[in-house]
Amino acid sequence: MALRVDFNNKNLHQCSRVELIQQLALKHLHGGFKKATSSSDNPKIPDPNLFNFTAEPKDARKECGRLPSIAECAVHLELLQAFRYLRIEILSSMALSILFGINPEYRTVFRKRVKWEGWTKSLVREEVKLRDENFEKKREKVWPLYLKLAASRFLSWIAAVEDFDRTNAPNGLFHLPPIDVLMVWHALLLNPKWFRSFEQRELKYLSTISFPWEQIHAAIDADSSKWSFKQSEADQAWFRDNCGLHPNFLEYLTKEQKSEHVSQYLTNYGKSLDSDGGHELDLESVSELSSSDSDSDPDPPELKFLDVCRIAAGGDDTIENLVDAVKRQSAFVDKMDKQLWIRSPAVEGTLSRAIIRYERFLKLFKLYPRTMLVPTLDIDLAWHTHQCSPARYEAETAEIAGRFVDHNDKLGTATLDPAFEKTKALYRIRFADDYQTCVCWDCEALRSAIADDDHKVPTDSASVAGEAQTTVAYYRAVEIARQTGEELLPIRDTP
Ligand SMILES: [Zn+2]
Repeated sequence: MALRVDFNNKNLHQCSRVELIQQLALKHLHGGFKKATSSSDNPKIPDPNLFNFTAEPKDARKECGRLPSIAECAVHLELLQAFRYLRIEILSSMALSILFGINPEYRTVFRKRVKWEGWTKSLVREEVKLRDENFEKKREKVWPLYLKLAASRFLSWIAAVEDFDRTNAPNGLFHLPPIDVLMVWHALLLNPKWFRSFEQRELKYLSTISFPWEQIHAAIDADSSKWSFKQSEADQAWFRDNCGLHPNFLEYLTKEQKSEHVSQYLTNYGKSLDSDGGHELDLESVSELSSSDSDSDPDPPELKFLDVCRIAAGGDDTIENLVDAVKRQSAFVDKMDKQLWIRSPAVEGTLSRAIIRYERFLKLFKLYPRTMLVPTLDIDLAWHTHQCSPARYEAETAEIAGRFVDHNDKLGTATLDPAFEKTKALYRIRFADDYQTCVCWDCEALRSAIADDDHKVPTDSASVAGEAQTTVAYYRAVEIARQTGEELLPIRDTP
């Protein structure tokens, strides 16, 4: 612990993300590290050993069942990255914009240009096509349009999941849904009170299962810079058979052959958002389609999809609330991306500290039952991870916090800021530790190094800090190379 005093923490702290962005801008790719000679030599970051789902918590705490594990929190970080890249993919898909009837409007103008012919100068009028400067702005609508459809697909999925007969299914079998459905489910779970009474419908199955972290981890490719998500064949088949919908939603929207009816419907659906009310869409058109008998009649899966569209466009409160829940989560997704702990050398330490701090946070609820408590970023991650498994969450918060703790992500800073200050003070009094600390890569790496060092023979502070700093520099070089599209990443000589 003496290290903390000896070493000037502020000198080390450089706010990694800012540093990372600056180095990216300078294309300072390898930071003096050697480059792998083949992609099989690329470093594995995060370390696969981080995802040990069977590991017992380090200190078997008796008073609680099982708070989220390091592996679960780590998968959560991966999942949030996958959500982030999904949003980027949706927003940058030209095919999707066009499908929703959002097209760039090019403007043609004439400009005078000087033209030389030998020594004679003349002015000519030239036709210039100008880009649509509002196009990017207009395209932002694609995300809420997509989310409404995703929320509607989610409602189809919960009906199928709840009604599915599991009597002959292998024990514990669960089919992972597509990412759009997963994202809506995840956002709903982060509103525990709403989830418990969702649509006055008893979610018998979904309220008892633990969130499928291990399957999610298997579906995400952490080596890809875009955290691509892929369901297994069996999970895709289950979704197709039981929900009657296409598992890869974006692919269905942008690549698959669709009947004229469906394409036209989606274009109208996209345009409907232009009107003030947002729902001027002719809902009758769906039933007309199903009764018409032209050649391009929608087939049964298309009819099912049109039904999903109809519900999405219907202005139903549930859909709107689900969309809002996903949008609120997007802010947290961006915060986690800024920290990018999942690619940091200290990720294991960061998460293990977050879990311990989260447990203390829950204890504060019992100690101060009438006080509003606000989490820090790291505690919030552990809290969210816990909420994803509702039965466990309910039982464990009842035990540690003394009651069911709801999570309200709708509050503004005017309410949150004073409550945060209060929480900070109470945490300090109760646990004699800092509540709000810098959680950048550098500070976290130093924190982990100090914790490791505490168990060893005393070493000098400069060498412990120096080593931590070199490791951070290396991980940063790898991430910069990855984000700039390098296929061969920097490697280190020492293991
Ligand atoms: Zn820092």
